[in-house]
Amino acid sequence: MIIAVDFDGTIVKHRYPAIGEEIPFAIDTLKMLQEERHRLILWTVREGELLDEAVEWCRKRGLEFYAVNRDFPEEDATGEGFSRKLKADLFIDDRSFGGLPDWGVIYHRIKAGKAHDADWGRLSLFSDDVYQAPKKSFWDRVFGR
Ligand SMILES: [Mg+2]
Repeated sequence: MIIAVDFDGTIVKHRYPAIGEEIPFAIDTLKMLQEERHRLILWTVREGELLDEAVEWCRKRGLEFYAVNRDFPEEDATGEGFSRKLKADLFIDDRSFGGLPDWGVIYHRIKAGKAHDADWGRLSLFSDDVYQAPKKSFWDRVFGR
């Protein structure tokens, strides 16, 4: 899979523009995924010097991305036909709907081929309870009827 990974708040704790401490097991997990032939793209708002620092921070820990803020290393981000939207199969980002799970969970879900199945999708609309068959229609629930 092509996996796009955010940096601040995902690999490290959010201290932007500084680099926070590593979120437990982020680096080891990403290295394991790479060994299992997944292609990793760093996908971050960082640019220039701040981006270089993040790339170097990962490199020092043995993590080298296939590409940074683009689909492939040679991609011309200014060229005609270029789309800013990354063509990744999976995005790992602390701003994802549902939030960022533990890196252990991320690893096992990817390994099991279930990266896109989310348990929180089974939660009911207005509470944290596990989903139960609704007694009212969807629209009645949405509008509190
Ligand atoms: Mg983030």
